[in-house]
Amino acid sequence: MVYMAKKKSKIYLDYAATTPVDPKVLKAMEPYFSDKFGNAGSIHGFGQEAQIAIDEARQKIADFLGCAGQEIIFTGSATEANNLAIKGLIQGLKKRKREGEKIHIITSQIEHKAVLAPIKYLEEIFGKGGGLEREKDVKVTYLPPDNQGIVSIDNIEKEITPETDLVSIMYANNEVGSIQPIKQIGCLIEKLNKDKEHPIFFHTDAVQAANYLDCEVDNLKVDLLTLSAHKIYGPKGISALYVRKGVPLSSLIKGGGQEWGLRAGTENVAAIVGFGEAIKQITNHKFYPERSRGTQITKIEKLRDKLVDGILYKIPDSRLNGPLPGKDRLPNNANISFQGIEGEGIVISLDMQGVAVSTGSACTSKALMPSHVLIAMGMEPEWTHSSIRFSLGKYTTAKDIDYVIKILPGIVGRLRKISGR
Ligand code: PLP
Repeated sequence: MVYMAKKKSKIYLDYAATTPVDPKVLKAMEPYFSDKFGNAGSIHGFGQEAQIAIDEARQKIADFLGCAGQEIIFTGSATEANNLAIKGLIQGLKKRKREGEKIHIITSQIEHKAVLAPIKYLEEIFGKGGGLEREKDVKVTYLPPDNQGIVSIDNIEKEITPETDLVSIMYANNEVGSIQPIKQIGCLIEKLNKDKEHPIFFHTDAVQAANYLDCEVDNLKVDLLTLSAHKIYGPKGISALYVRKGVPLSSLIKGGGQEWGLRAGTENVAAIVGFGEAIKQITNHKFYPERSRGTQITKIEKLRDKLVDGILYKIPDSRLNGPLPGKDRLPNNANISFQGIEGEGIVISLDMQGVAVSTGSACTSKALMPSHVLIAMGMEPEWTHSSIRFSLGKYTTAKDIDYVIKILPGIVGRLRKISGR
């Protein structure tokens, strides 16, 4: 059953689920729905205009990542980009493998389902219990995080074998905001690759990180990196996969030769233009600190800290899940559990009073399942069921936070009374 609030929420604290489109982004996109409607594959002027717009947007994304335009593949979602990175790489590698050679993937238990599901699929098709006998050659290691939601680099090193082909670890977790040591993992893999017969490829899902963290691929030493426009004030339905030159990827969608044959289908020009503009907003902040990405992040972080302090101070038996605010946690994330009540009750009550938040990730929040991330972090069930994710963004104000701190104690108190606590 889908719950619908009678009144639409006015205060939005669910930026990790999606962000509103920045007015500058919308303005940049508009002409591509009307006058500039050409198909980038056409030779005539309309087509050329569309192709130029795509090339320019691609370059903006390449500038943000510090890579070449040809290394960016546009996809319809970050889910698709993750599927392309994982299934596309394994398919590409399978073509090169000799008879009997195995494939080994290392990932973490706290990845988004958009990473876990394609890996599970490969395991089912080609791993133990699935496929033909001769195809049972995909092995997966799912690493647990520590109780703060951080994957240890030592554990990754311990699991790497001569057969390891792919390490896929997210940059920042969507539920608890924990930031993973991507650069250190990249350096480790680079070091190990020097002595390896075939290289380990390194993928990171940077969907939640892009607004806040350095995503330059040579700094991070990643081979594949996923971005999503709708998490950075761009439109939905457009994302990108960075693919380092030479990574042997097979396409998942066959058809025309778009995106260097790696993602067939007529390009979504307006969305691509919007994605480019959204990235430009971040890149601008990075290059001109006085306008400043730094200031914006500091503002969001201060509001988040105020929210966390206010809630923990006013509501007994509440606790912050994930790393302490600081360098290991995204500045916009607060994931808090309220002992003794269901998170869904809080989401609905807050929504009725005009505040939009979520339990865990947007996809799991409709399924009434405890979060796989909190479970992997070793949390007891009574705490996993009562978690709420507050995620702030660039339009969040101090007034919004004050209002939440004011109404939440009453909501939690009432729900606790109903549940007999
Ligand atoms: N990866 C992470 C870390 C996410 O947070 C999300 C969305 O919440 C996705 C992937 C999926 O993104 P999309 O909605 O663009 O498919």
